Amino acid sequence: MIADRRTKIVATLGPASESEDMIRQLVRAGVNVFRLNFSHGSYEEHATLIRRVRQVSLEMQAPVTILQDLQGPKIRVGKFKEGKIELKTGERVRITMDPILGEPGLIPSDFPELLESVQVGDVILLDDGLLKLKVVHLGSDHIDAEVIDGGWLKDRKGMNIPGRTLKVECLTDKDIADLEFGLRHEVDVVALSFVRFPKDLRYLRELIQTKTERSVRICAKIEMLEAIQNLEEIVRLSDIVMVARGDLAIEVGQSKLPFYQKEIIRLANRYNKPVITATQMLDSMVSHPRPTRAEITDVANAVLDGADALMLSAETATGRYPVECVKTMDEIIREVEQSSEQIYHKLSLDSEFMNDPTAIAASAAFTALKVNAKVIVCLSTTGKTARIISGFRPKARLIAATDRFEVLNELEMVWGLHSIVVSSYKTMREVKSQIEGYLLSYGLAQPGDKAVMTLGLPIDQGAKTNTLHTWTISQQEYQRLPDNNIPVRFRQNPMLS
Ligand code: PEP
Repeated sequence: MIADRRTKIVATLGPASESEDMIRQLVRAGVNVFRLNFSHGSYEEHATLIRRVRQVSLEMQAPVTILQDLQGPKIRVGKFKEGKIELKTGERVRITMDPILGEPGLIPSDFPELLESVQVGDVILLDDGLLKLKVVHLGSDHIDAEVIDGGWLKDRKGMNIPGRTLKVECLTDKDIADLEFGLRHEVDVVALSFVRFPKDLRYLRELIQTKTERSVRICAKIEMLEAIQNLEEIVRLSDIVMVARGDLAIEVGQSKLPFYQKEIIRLANRYNKPVITATQMLDSMVSHPRPTRAEITDVANAVLDGADALMLSAETATGRYPVECVKTMDEIIREVEQSSEQIYHKLSLDSEFMNDPTAIAASAAFTALKVNAKVIVCLSTTGKTARIISGFRPKARLIAATDRFEVLNELEMVWGLHSIVVSSYKTMREVKSQIEGYLLSYGLAQPGDKAVMTLGLPIDQGAKTNTLHTWTISQQEYQRLPDNNIPVRFRQNPMLS
């Protein structure tokens, strides 16, 4: 019953999922957001993927958010003559700033400022923390280090120096070029990797505003200690937050990760910013058809923590079972959402947030709870009120009814929200009969159910949301929509069969 799932699913596209058929299967299995990882792939490949996603989404009438994930200032090792070298525990190796091909005992770095950033005794982690070095000597153009945890080191693997503030810009030249490409191809969300300071987000937002008039959402990936130290301000300044657990675990120390995950989600919920829990949620499914018990519990716990969306990375990008991963995640989320009351009705009536739209949104969530409404419909062009209501986590189904096709995709990642397009209307009667048609055709409500609507009056003047309306879904005739017009997410709703 996909229409019933509130927590959204983000899937990363990659070689295992890039075909049109696979994208179609993933949408059918329940993907709401596709993530394009700009650490990999050419512009031609990304452009093809964006075109395919938009095409499939249109054909299936399933809105899909496209999230562009900028690489950010990730430090990497260079390339090796043989593509990889073995680091033996206990041996001494040299990290060179020269742009050469590496060989056993010699690791090139793509970050010349590394020398100024480390001190003797520092730990350098490689390949997501799988390999560990300790700095023993600083030369004029190299670093000597002892291998603490050895293993194979391949071309271009990542490098982390936990606890050190690196002299890097938040957006590299590559990121700026990638951003321009993404905006030209109308991505819905831009995610910034390795955010550290509030100014990083201000800079990205200004940059976006100079390049487009569209409302492009900014996602701050929380994966650095500095971001944790500036967390509240970073959450306030972003539109979406990601708990980027891969790098975060390395930067803050693995045992601190569960606490920070909860803290980031708590703050994001408090400021009503959608939050994505990411990385290794179903990691064993990269090569196995079933998850481990720990992974099942991790997915469930992220939902219970209050995440708006959960992300699949290698599982769908390079894994053997992309569709099974989405189905597994979908099944676990739905089970938790059906069995647990604790994720609903987060009606914090904190006066700090009380402006007009928030007041109407809070009243809609409160009224829906009190009159036991089945749906809350937000009549709005941009979905702004619906986003705010989502933050109150209503149990009633949340529907954004808009006359703007272009906002459907960006609304798809909002917790619990389904958006529908209504044709232009001049009176309440006109729009209500369209909405009832949708609700009844899609099985979202039955005659006699209570409904709550937020809208702006006067209705024919495009007024901003200022009104709360309750009514009972009528028994009267409505236009039942032909089945082939029913979008895929509703088509899989058993209430329709
Ligand atoms: C992470 O580090 O968890 C993450 C999501 O970022 P990336 O996959 O880009 O490394």
